[in-house]
Amino acid sequence: MSNHNELRERLARIDGKGYGAYKSIAGTYEFPHFTLFIDNVQSDPFAPPSKIRVRVAQRLAGFPRELFRNRSRRVALEDYLTRQLAGAIRQAGVSPRGTGTSGLVSIDAGGQEILERTSMVVNKDYVEARLKVGLPARGRTVLGRQAITMFNELLPQLVSQTLFYKRLEQGKVKEHVKLAEDQDYLRNLLPGRKLAAFVANGSILPRESGVSDRPLKSKNVVAFRSPPELEVSFDLPNRGRVSGMGVPEGITVIVGGGYHGKSTLLRAIERGVYNHIPGDGRELVITVADAVKIRAEDGRRIEKVDISGFITDLPFGQDTIAFSSENASGSTSQAANIVEALETGTHLLLLDEDTSATNLMIRDGRMQQLVAKENEPITPFIDRVRELYEKFRVSTILVVGSSGDYFDVADRVIMMQNYIPRDVTARAKEITATLGENRQVEIKNKFKKVTARIPLKDSFRLPARGKVKARGLNHIVFGRTTIDLQYVEQLVDASQTNAIAEILKYIGKHYCNNKNRMADIIEMVLEDIDKEGLDVISPFRGQHPGDLALPRKYEIAAAINRFHQLVVRQEGT
Ligand code: ADP
Ligand code: MG
Repeated sequence: MSNHNELRERLARIDGKGYGAYKSIAGTYEFPHFTLFIDNVQSDPFAPPSKIRVRVAQRLAGFPRELFRNRSRRVALEDYLTRQLAGAIRQAGVSPRGTGTSGLVSIDAGGQEILERTSMVVNKDYVEARLKVGLPARGRTVLGRQAITMFNELLPQLVSQTLFYKRLEQGKVKEHVKLAEDQDYLRNLLPGRKLAAFVANGSILPRESGVSDRPLKSKNVVAFRSPPELEVSFDLPNRGRVSGMGVPEGITVIVGGGYHGKSTLLRAIERGVYNHIPGDGRELVITVADAVKIRAEDGRRIEKVDISGFITDLPFGQDTIAFSSENASGSTSQAANIVEALETGTHLLLLDEDTSATNLMIRDGRMQQLVAKENEPITPFIDRVRELYEKFRVSTILVVGSSGDYFDVADRVIMMQNYIPRDVTARAKEITATLGENRQVEIKNKFKKVTARIPLKDSFRLPARGKVKARGLNHIVFGRTTIDLQYVEQLVDASQTNAIAEILKYIGKHYCNNKNRMADIIEMVLEDIDKEGLDVISPFRGQHPGDLALPRKYEIAAAINRFHQLVVRQEGT
């Protein structure tokens, strides 16, 4: 191991040389209060930035054990430190100047969610931050002096501001960690209380804009308030008693006039599968961990999914027991999205009529009279939703402003009015009773337990020199194909997409053997991550693993299911 003076000397020596000379700085350097690992040196100023780690021994960093004594706390502490470091970088006014990425210093800090990520590791021995830096250059000429400033001045300053407990606002650190612990605690309590979701009184649900996930700040924001009929309370380990709306298991329909906040409520519930940072407004909007947003997604690929519960007897005798399509329609794509979520293990479906295929959701009485059942391939969701709950314990929360037919099948009807929910179940049932059900239930067959699918090994084969790489939040390039994830709405962080790209390679290497079921394969990967940390899926274990954040199994499955190379065998065939 070298020390920081040697790094300084090396950088001075290569000043003015060709960019390739930077290769000589890879290695480990002892600084007064931390160790610097230069793991990867970029090959030119336009290449992806270089990867470094800084590690502070815990005896110097001084984080009390209680701040990372369980998974919830550790992930939240790592998240907090990552955000602090990102904030310090911002404050230092670091920005790339010179050629390419020259001068850049960054850490992967995420958005409103608190996710397990590789950017920071806290354990009993050390605190380690994983950063990216752009090595300074003018053209292809090393700017050694700027590099010395970056490594020997800026970096020690950033480390001393953020990775030592004594230097932090300890109240804030504790608040962050304890809130996340409360969120996980509440989420784990929901099934025992037979609830699908909880929305605390006082929550702020609307967001700043369609492209900003920050809370809407305006004097017209209406804070959430539970209808009295649905109000429940929880005693949390840190915050104590909280009250709010409990959405019971079963079928809950959210109605209300246009623009009264229906979709905003559902979106908050969708995101409630993740923890949120203090101040988000949705800190105590908590949904069972296995909730899946379902929507129509015409154009997506489908590989041998049994959609016969929703669609049978297609023209030209197309198979719907093992339905494949390179270009699915609205209804077939939404049916496949439901069946795949069930296959992966969901117990809560979230649907919004805004993004659903109308013909999959409903067929009203008049249409039933005109178009005979024999000529309609679709069994609409309205005729399956109770069966899914009664047979498989799969609940549904559904936004429908337009069809009162759903009153017949709902356990609860919540009406949004000026952004405030009311329980209108009794009134809705009364309407059904006086007007009568005006449509026939149309079920041609029983909804069968979902057939497991077994991915074949060739699916994950890469062409020679082919790469697997995430492109932002919504795309993964796998060799010559691209996986489109833009309609996978609970994928929230580009580093989750990075992780899914790594997981696709990892699955191909370790678990795809023509025998394991898709859902089991995903579980196996997640177990490895749980045991060994998120670094396990990176090809650079023991070094900077890249910017990864933990995806849920549903988003991993979503990527595999949309993958053009996927070939499966249905179990039992
Ligand atoms: P709907 O689905 O009922 O048509 P949306 O949920 O799309 O309505 O909400 C309509 C608009 O109202 C959006 O711009 C949203 O940001 C805003 N909004 C939603 N909830 C609130 C609230 N609690 N306070 C203030 N504005 C809100
Ligand atoms: Mg809406």
